[in-house]
Amino acid sequence: MDIEPLNNWIPASHQPFVIAGPCSAETEQQVIETALSLAAIPQVKIFRAGIWKPRTRPGAFEGVGHSGLKWLQRVKEETGLLVTVEVANPRHVEDALNHGIDILWIGARTVVNPFAVQEIGEAIGGNDIPVMIKNPLNPDLKTWMGAIERLNEMGLTKLIAVHRGFSFFNRSPYRNAPMWEIPIELKRLFPNLPILVDPSHICGNRELIPATIQKALDLEMNGIMIESHINPSKALTDKNQQITPVQLSEILSKLIVRRESGSIEFENKLEALRSEIDKLDEELIDILARRMNVVAEIGTYKKANKITILQLKRWNQLTRDRIEAGIKMGLSREFILKLLESVHEEGIQRQIDVMNRDDQ
Ligand code: PEP
Ligand code: MN
Repeated sequence: MDIEPLNNWIPASHQPFVIAGPCSAETEQQVIETALSLAAIPQVKIFRAGIWKPRTRPGAFEGVGHSGLKWLQRVKEETGLLVTVEVANPRHVEDALNHGIDILWIGARTVVNPFAVQEIGEAIGGNDIPVMIKNPLNPDLKTWMGAIERLNEMGLTKLIAVHRGFSFFNRSPYRNAPMWEIPIELKRLFPNLPILVDPSHICGNRELIPATIQKALDLEMNGIMIESHINPSKALTDKNQQITPVQLSEILSKLIVRRESGSIEFENKLEALRSEIDKLDEELIDILARRMNVVAEIGTYKKANKITILQLKRWNQLTRDRIEAGIKMGLSREFILKLLESVHEEGIQRQIDVMNRDDQ
């Protein structure tokens, strides 16, 4: 993909690069006060505010709409920050572009729909305006990639992916499960594409935000899009996850910005540790292959004696023993269990293959 590097079009002298602002623009005063405080934080380069708010159920505050665009123009003039809003249809795009909005973003509820993404791309027309594409609500990398590719094929090169977590049925401390493996895979497939983390929508609360940002930076994400409100307890949307500009500044000052590579000495040590890992992985694969061969042998034996494959009592006992042994070695119960289940599943498949084999 032909992607314009982030630092070609955003002056980011302070790390990490931050986009901040309220979930929603509510009043002119709230917008201006929040923006003035945020502009004093050196890392903050862009001001965000939702003016058209997609709400899960009708009746909730749906954004101030068109009138908020004037407030964002004031933010630009008075702070020098670039401004960004969420667009969900061609009407929003036209309105935003007519009011000097610098960057557009497409929200999680819109990215799920390729028709909507197509229409937004068409409305943007020939303007190579920057567009941020949030991940879709559901953990579906292809839909996320598809939206990015679609816009890129329409001539947009200043694209940024935003990781905001995924709806997930399991209970978890997060509002949206981070599932880090998905943005990591996106980075592997689209190495030139900048990715920001949106800790506000991942966490859904203030407490988990610092660790979530640190994790994203350690995974080499390129910056942060975060919700900040001058008075979060009075926020009309997403009040539990918004932080004040002062809190944002504190969080940023405590982050550890690690470098991608270090001194020769550091690189040598890293290289040594990596080759140790390579060797251990080789042994691990060898052991797994040998284990599966023994499993197949058991399968043959069971078959000859007309015994069923799944022996629950044995499996339960084995699980208990291995978990106990693993915990003694400092491994977590969840990890061993996941590993055993995966090994067991493969083992059962091996035995099914043996049973189905035509021995004649
Ligand atoms: C937002 O950024 O305020 C928002 C609505 O986000 P998302 O589309 O990620 O839910
Ligand atoms: Mn929000």
